[in-house]
Amino acid sequence: MADQLIKATAAAGGIRAVGVVTTRLTEEARARHRLSAVATAALGRTMTSGLLLVSNMKRSQSRVNIRIRGNGPLGTVFVDAGLDGTVRGYVENPHVEMPLNQQGKLDVGTAVGKDGYLYVVRDVGYGYPYSSTVELVSGEVGDDIAYYLATSEQTPSALVVGVFVNAEGVSAAGGLLLQVMPKAASDDTLVETLESRVSALTGFTPLLRSGKTLPEIFEQLLGDMDLQILPETQLLRFHCRCTHERMLGALKLLGQAELQDMIEKDNGAEATCHFCGQIYTATSDQLGDLIVALQAES
Ligand code: ZN
Repeated sequence: MADQLIKATAAAGGIRAVGVVTTRLTEEARARHRLSAVATAALGRTMTSGLLLVSNMKRSQSRVNIRIRGNGPLGTVFVDAGLDGTVRGYVENPHVEMPLNQQGKLDVGTAVGKDGYLYVVRDVGYGYPYSSTVELVSGEVGDDIAYYLATSEQTPSALVVGVFVNAEGVSAAGGLLLQVMPKAASDDTLVETLESRVSALTGFTPLLRSGKTLPEIFEQLLGDMDLQILPETQLLRFHCRCTHERMLGALKLLGQAELQDMIEKDNGAEATCHFCGQIYTATSDQLGDLIVALQAES
């Protein structure tokens, strides 16, 4: 199944559901950044969360940035997801390996660290972005995003995100976000029903790996609650906005002396994009053009 997002409602519009498959984009991130298995799981869960969070914004330029800063060896995990279905991200220490946890699963919580903060920035494309910060709950990403939704957005929500990765790469990734709409938020039984059904799921990736599609997963969860699956399917992809021009613009900020030094010592320059791992090179001639431009501006 291609990477995609679909939406549904249930309980006469009282529940809003979003489901995403992010297998290919998580595999692309793994390959681009040469991520270890546990780093792949951490970044994949965070990218999946970003795509789920941005999906309820309205303006087409909207983006959500998630930064997870725990005290574990992975360092910062950063994700930038757009309502246009694009996402990019990185892990500060991408090659960290960890022993499996007691359940025999990738130990994302220890790799991220349980002490630290989750920062979420919602940017609609103009004005000041709206940002909020919560303490980490477990470092497992899904729990932390759910806690953010409960405290910062005060929306009763249930969230599940998962990544299945082995030596061959990512074979399944994705997640679900179920939210009780404001008009139904006082309905405690609805909230409890959602929470119990999501916690009864044995995880998201086992469903995908068993061949279930997103509509089938929605059906399994909410089929008896007046489920309405919206007809639109949005395709999702890993995409970075970096270009050779932007890289030259960043080099220009280094100033004339530094650029001259690069020409003389390295006969050019090489720069790697943080977000996607793309390597850009600048020739001595291109660096010389930047110096000329700087001289013209001074
Ligand atoms: Zn890039």
